[in-house]
Amino acid sequence: MNRADEPREACGVFAVNAPGRDVSRMTFFALHALQHRGQESAGIAVSDGERVTVQRDLGLVGDVFDEPALRSLTGDAALGHVRYSTTGSNHWENAQPVAQMSEQGIVALGHNGNLTNADELRHQLIEAGAEVRASSDSVLIAALLARGEGSLLDSVCRAMPRLVGAYSVVALSETELVAFRDPHGVRPLALGRLPEGGWCVASETCALDQVGAVVEREVRPGEAVRICATGTESRQAVPPAGAKPCVFENIYFARPDSQLNGQAVWESRHAMGMQLADEHLVAADLVVGLPDSGTPAAIGYARASGIPYAEAVVRNRYVGRSFIQPDQALRQQGVLLKFNPLPSIIGGRRLVVVDDSIVRGTTTRKTVAMLRDAGAAEIHMRVSSPPILWPCFYGIDMAERSELVAAGRTPEQVAELTGADSLAYLSLAGLQRALGRPGDAFCRACFTGDYPIPLPSVADKRRFEVQPTPA
Ligand code: SF4
Repeated sequence: MNRADEPREACGVFAVNAPGRDVSRMTFFALHALQHRGQESAGIAVSDGERVTVQRDLGLVGDVFDEPALRSLTGDAALGHVRYSTTGSNHWENAQPVAQMSEQGIVALGHNGNLTNADELRHQLIEAGAEVRASSDSVLIAALLARGEGSLLDSVCRAMPRLVGAYSVVALSETELVAFRDPHGVRPLALGRLPEGGWCVASETCALDQVGAVVEREVRPGEAVRICATGTESRQAVPPAGAKPCVFENIYFARPDSQLNGQAVWESRHAMGMQLADEHLVAADLVVGLPDSGTPAAIGYARASGIPYAEAVVRNRYVGRSFIQPDQALRQQGVLLKFNPLPSIIGGRRLVVVDDSIVRGTTTRKTVAMLRDAGAAEIHMRVSSPPILWPCFYGIDMAERSELVAAGRTPEQVAELTGADSLAYLSLAGLQRALGRPGDAFCRACFTGDYPIPLPSVADKRRFEVQPTPA
């Protein structure tokens, strides 16, 4: 994960209501478990029943919060957010939780996803006299919530029918904590119960595990849930529109120790690798996975093919993304900052190299070159997802269509471009077989171009264009 030209995650959220517990510290730990979903900024909001305090900054969770900061964030309920910017650039103002003041008080909010009607909403809010300062769509949601009367849950239920797009949101006022999810349930959101008392919600179940919560269930598409210390109160704020969870969560984004819709992510990826071997077997000496997200699929490929699996590439786990600005020479070396091959294992061997996805192809090209330099005799790239052909409008920075290496190119052409001896992708049917669920149970728009939610009315035309296939 977290390779320079891979699709980049759109954010992670966590919230907890547990009076008597150190809710800020719990949130801090949960955000560590969600760090892979966003590394540009981190923030925590906490409420003591009378006041909401927000601290946020650019950087990793461990950079933004130290011991004195955590000690100062006292309360009964808290929410946290890690961010990678999809709309709104990487400025402090766009770090989350965002906070919106109103006559009713303050609403702090963390959002994972992307609204496709943000421009319309912004105009509506400005026309209605609201001050909308930051550029992120999350600020618009906060502004909508702050304008409502009654409880925060009432405000959420009034706002949700006006939101179009992908959103998994946690919102905190002085007295209420509410989680809500768009009617297609594109981005994940799971509820957990703390055995010692209290409830929480998180983008991924690995964050619930981190704080010792028992996973109860997913927040349902179109549902708004008030999270109290003693239980939850649920409302179906908008009718479910047919669940379309992002299939890329299963392929790449989610941590392998998370569960999505009750399915273990590691198992799904392992099954994708087995399926990939069934579809695209090649004679080779070793199967190598690109750590970490390619590893379960590589193990699956090895198991199904009978070719031995080898850990032949070591990943430097401490190379973050946020503040690394290498010079040009280092940037060209890019991939070597994160991966180091083991020539004693690779030398003279024919390799099957399993990766979870290819976006622009630049990382693949560097990886192939790195493995050749380490002495590999042959390199056969096997990709445990179908080719990415379309951009994402639902909260993932996937690049424009013209930048997607598979758009307008055959696998053979991509192999040539990246320097691999061969290259093959998992089929769409194979992906669904591995997941054990039909294609219409997911959003798969980046593979099919079949977008389940209306696109922005001024969708950037360039995002759909593709360069002519090279001769
Ligand atoms: S377009 Fe792709 S990345 Fe975006 S939500 Fe759909 S499946 Fe996920």
